[in-house]
Amino acid sequence: MDIEWEITLSEPVIISNWNHGKQAVTTGIGILRKGGSALDAVEAGICSVEDDPETHSVGTGGIPNIEGVVELDASIMIGNTHQSGAVTGLVMTKNPISVARKVMELCPHVMLSGEGALHFARACGFEYYEPLTPWAKDRWEALRKLLFSAMKNEISFSQFTAKVGYNIEPEKIASALELLIKSGEIREAGTVGTLCLDANGMIVAGTSTSGLPIHLPGRVADSSVIGAGTFASESGAASSTGIGEYVIRHTLSRKACDYIEEGSSPTEACEKALLQMLKRENVPHFIGLIALNRNGNVGGACISNEAHQFTFQYQRLSDGDMHEVTANPVKLKS
Ligand code: ASP
Repeated sequence: MDIEWEITLSEPVIISNWNHGKQAVTTGIGILRKGGSALDAVEAGICSVEDDPETHSVGTGGIPNIEGVVELDASIMIGNTHQSGAVTGLVMTKNPISVARKVMELCPHVMLSGEGALHFARACGFEYYEPLTPWAKDRWEALRKLLFSAMKNEISFSQFTAKVGYNIEPEKIASALELLIKSGEIREAGTVGTLCLDANGMIVAGTSTSGLPIHLPGRVADSSVIGAGTFASESGAASSTGIGEYVIRHTLSRKACDYIEEGSSPTEACEKALLQMLKRENVPHFIGLIALNRNGNVGGACISNEAHQFTFQYQRLSDGDMHEVTANPVKLKS
């Protein structure tokens, strides 16, 4: 793959969201230290979170969909060239972010889904792997029971089989799922988003998730959608987390990058993108955004109630310290 852009000397930095993102930052900075690129750092950083069975919203250990299948979504983008790759609904595979990178590097397409993504992954040498852990399976069972009771016994339990996604009217499931999300019962949210600027000025964004717990089969998470969950340009990069439907509808990461291009700082860009969404739609859920610019400045913001504190962290190659930040929630002025 040809990767060419105007090389600028910049101060390398890597940023990742949520507590699990610390692992991504530590791994990624290690790659930069050894002379690796921003692309290598983002991929390796995200892989380290995908491989952690204690993170229940990404890769191994992720909570399955309503049928008990762990569906993985991921995307990666090089801002300098706009090259990008994504997979959605990838099953039985260990590292969706690495498959997304292969899509970017080897495929004439940007995004592969389901069976096609799986065949492509196997052709690239990614072996069969079951990301479902015993803990995630138990949690899935518990959430299915909650979902069943949230449906107020509108169906019999015998109808509520493993094929629940197909034999029940979708709106009944949808409203029960909405209820669980609102009540905070579905709380294992937390995409991993990682952004990096390297010493050659390469800017990369990557995002990975197992999607919202017990989602309907085939649901596409924002994390695999370029422009929504992930975006990078010549000026900056951004990654979103939270209820992906809002992120997709408002192409949040793209918006944050546009504001960066117009001169906003990364934090201002995230705030503006979120506020613009709030002006257009009531958002009763958590949404978080992180961003960086080509000068190596980083930032983030969120829409949140008190229950959700959005944290992110970053490390610069020059000082080596882990900087931890709690993002300010944005609100429309009344
Ligand atoms: N954005 C992810 C999704 O909607 C979830 C998350 O961030 O936790 O699938």
